[in-house]
Amino acid sequence: MSHDHDHDDHSHLGEMEARVRALETLLVEKGYVDPAALDAIVQTYETRIGPRNGARVVARAWVDEAYRQWLAADATAAIASLGYGGRQGEHMVAVFNTPQEHHMVVCTLCSCYPWPVLGLPPVWYKSAPYRSRAVSEPRAVLGEFGVSLPEATRIRVWDSTAEVRYLVVPMRPAGTDGWTEERLAAIVNRDSMIGTGLPQP
Ligand code: FE
Repeated sequence: MSHDHDHDDHSHLGEMEARVRALETLLVEKGYVDPAALDAIVQTYETRIGPRNGARVVARAWVDEAYRQWLAADATAAIASLGYGGRQGEHMVAVFNTPQEHHMVVCTLCSCYPWPVLGLPPVWYKSAPYRSRAVSEPRAVLGEFGVSLPEATRIRVWDSTAEVRYLVVPMRPAGTDGWTEERLAAIVNRDSMIGTGLPQP
């Protein structure tokens, strides 16, 4: 993200982007924010913080039973032990998929999301249809994501709040015995940790 372009020419921008630019310009002009600091924050979320972090948490839980139990008992501490913590991840709860129960996360009010482990939320997560239908018809929503679960599997939907953020720990796929933690982490995609997807070996 560069700040050396002309902020006054908004003709080529969408309305929302134009409003964000206008707000940013105002904050910079008034000296409330430093453009370099803003760039650093954006770059951090684009490159350093993202679903790869959560994938490492999941892979560790798959290979290390003691870690899995710690994650279940105190997710915030267990996740922080791998170096992931901070804003929007202060109170983490890990929920574990089983053959009997599949977990799915939503924020019905807005877009609360565990930034330190998953990065910034995808656009659909913030959309009104997802936020309402994840609760009213989760199985149909899962179907639209290409996830079809056995009828006997119960779907539990967790509503994020400003305080609590959830990380879904998907089931370890069959056929991954003996895989290294790194190789396992590579198959844990973002949606599988929101509960709208499954790991793809
Ligand atoms: Fe929210």
